[in-house]
Amino acid sequence: MGNRPPLLDITALPHKGRSFLLNEDVSAGDVVLRTKPYAAIPDCGSRTFVCAHCLKPPKITHQEQSHSASPERERQPLPVSCVTCCVASYCTSTCADRDFLKFHRFECAFLAELGATTKNDDDGALTEYERDYLWLLVRVLIGRAWEVKGEEHDVKDDTSAREAEETMRFEDVWALCSNASSFSAEAVKRFHVVAGHLLHFVQGHLLPGFKFPSDVEDSLLWAPETQDVPNPKSPPPNAAASNSPQHSALYKSLLTLICKEECNSFGLYTFAYQGPTVPRQGYALALYPRAVFFNHSCLPNVGHITNTCLESSAGTVKASGGQEKMVDYTELIFYATRDIKRGDEAVISYIELDEADTDAAGDGEGRSAVERRRMALNDMFFFKCACVRCEFEADATTPPRTLTDLSALLCRKDGCRGRFMPSALAGSHEPEPATEGTKGGLTKASPAITEDPSPARTDSAKDLRLKTAHARKHGPSRQTWTCEACGRIRQNA
Ligand SMILES: [Zn+2]
Ligand SMILES: [Zn+2]
Ligand SMILES: [Zn+2]
Ligand SMILES: [Zn+2]
Repeated sequence: MGNRPPLLDITALPHKGRSFLLNEDVSAGDVVLRTKPYAAIPDCGSRTFVCAHCLKPPKITHQEQSHSASPERERQPLPVSCVTCCVASYCTSTCADRDFLKFHRFECAFLAELGATTKNDDDGALTEYERDYLWLLVRVLIGRAWEVKGEEHDVKDDTSAREAEETMRFEDVWALCSNASSFSAEAVKRFHVVAGHLLHFVQGHLLPGFKFPSDVEDSLLWAPETQDVPNPKSPPPNAAASNSPQHSALYKSLLTLICKEECNSFGLYTFAYQGPTVPRQGYALALYPRAVFFNHSCLPNVGHITNTCLESSAGTVKASGGQEKMVDYTELIFYATRDIKRGDEAVISYIELDEADTDAAGDGEGRSAVERRRMALNDMFFFKCACVRCEFEADATTPPRTLTDLSALLCRKDGCRGRFMPSALAGSHEPEPATEGTKGGLTKASPAITEDPSPARTDSAKDLRLKTAHARKHGPSRQTWTCEACGRIRQNA
């Protein structure tokens, strides 16, 4: 994979901005992008279960057999915890040591302070989500500080050879769109609270921690050519004096950074916590600067997963030749959900595809599914979806079955909330499948994978309907799909 040229070109499309276009034909199931985060953290509910360095997901020690009950599963707390901040936990002392060198020695005292103070401070009281993205941005800033210091962003370890394939810089984060003027006044008010904490982190912890002279402060955050970014329009609270910290260039750029994070971060999720019938259960938050050019479609041709489905008991999988290979749990893998032609745009879904199909909240006021879906997208991502599925459904004409039938993408059997992923990814880290892989700590890798270690990608049919006809004519395709949540196998037909 390392030397393979990227399959995705970044091209500016009208009304869409920078977008990903395929530069060659790909078949359903093909991986179109693997990418690592600039920064990642386990979320509030997962801090004692998910490693703060490698994001290795928790072991499930007990699970009910009943699918319908979906009980909270018993998770095994990680063996190593930082007793100073009580925030970061690690799967091994090696992870703890590496994380301390790279991140934790700069953030630990700040995280400890945050845990001790915010509960009593009304305005400063942070929601769990705000704590999550605050910690994520703390790590972004530490990464930036390493770059300014001119040292390797990553501490050398046995994964350094792999990491060398993709070097991420802060300028990749800073190049992300901020949609700064789109956020509500209420949202911007909260950004100011978080920015205040970030400012304190930079001045009280980051600069002293790196022993930077104070003049580094204002040059820490941005590349000069991108300095003219819009800032949220509402004025900062309690900032009457023009020499107040809220007017500093540093503070403004921290606000901008928050907007960028809010528009571009990925929540990572699992089905291991509560089982397949509960919608995807978040465990981490991460920024993938290389992955932000996927636009949204309600009928996506690309899906994405993390390597959590690859876990074996040792946290490694067997690569070719029986040699064990480290699993990178932070990596995000994007795969084609159907055949895509060269020059077509690669699109993912930002929301659950059938999220708005039922008016669960009951406040839809008679709105149709497409109206509810468009509202949800507009509220969260500030655009009116004009994807092919939305356009057809809004037209009230009868959409082609290929547009409304999501059964190729979504499992939904017995209430399952999972999506299908290529079976080759479900059971293996490239290039060889693992024979003892588990999925999200739940389901054994399917027998189909061991029977068929190298699924052929020979589908030439253009869409699912054609593919069915193709299968009838030429025999079943060997590409199979596995539900990420319940492990069910779907054949291509
Ligand atoms: Zn770890
Ligand atoms: Zn700590
Ligand atoms: Zn749409
Ligand atoms: Zn399923």
